[in-house]
Amino acid sequence: MRLVTHYVFTAGILALLLSSFTSYYLVLAGILSVAGNLIIDRLGHKEIHTRHGTIPTRTPLTHTVPRSAVWGMLPSIPFFVLGFLYGDIPWFLLLSIVIGPSHMILDAFTEAGIYVKKEGKWTRFALAHYRYDNSFINGAAIFLGFVMLVLSFHGYYYHYQLLSFSSPLKSQLRRG
Ligand SMILES: [Zn+2]
Repeated sequence: MRLVTHYVFTAGILALLLSSFTSYYLVLAGILSVAGNLIIDRLGHKEIHTRHGTIPTRTPLTHTVPRSAVWGMLPSIPFFVLGFLYGDIPWFLLLSIVIGPSHMILDAFTEAGIYVKKEGKWTRFALAHYRYDNSFINGAAIFLGFVMLVLSFHGYYYHYQLLSFSSPLKSQLRRG
């Protein structure tokens, strides 16, 4: 799948998950999604030049579900260190474990697929066989990412705004 598609899709999932923990969830979701997906694709894609042009391929170094989860969590480490220094460790960032698998879900819809181990050997696994740059499947994933981003605004509103709005109302009620 295209990198920009991965960015939007993963950012949507992360925003949904982080929106009830911090008001900086959109910034965090953006940074972690871009950095995590970049690592996974930069380390895990090889371009093979053939007579018919350049073909992007994948390696099992990052394109397996468990390994991608580890690579995808790397960008959250600086935030843990910062949190540790300031005495408030952002444990909720452990949710960045979903970055890698969210990348794998999308790549499983492309012809190169992802890797799974079968009887000790790496074999490719794919749910569908679209080209990595197929505009239908990329568009669908970007759309889903946007929907999740919009839903995350709602989650944030519900979690923070509603609570702070309700407190003056409550005190008014008490006074009234
Ligand atoms: Zn990939």
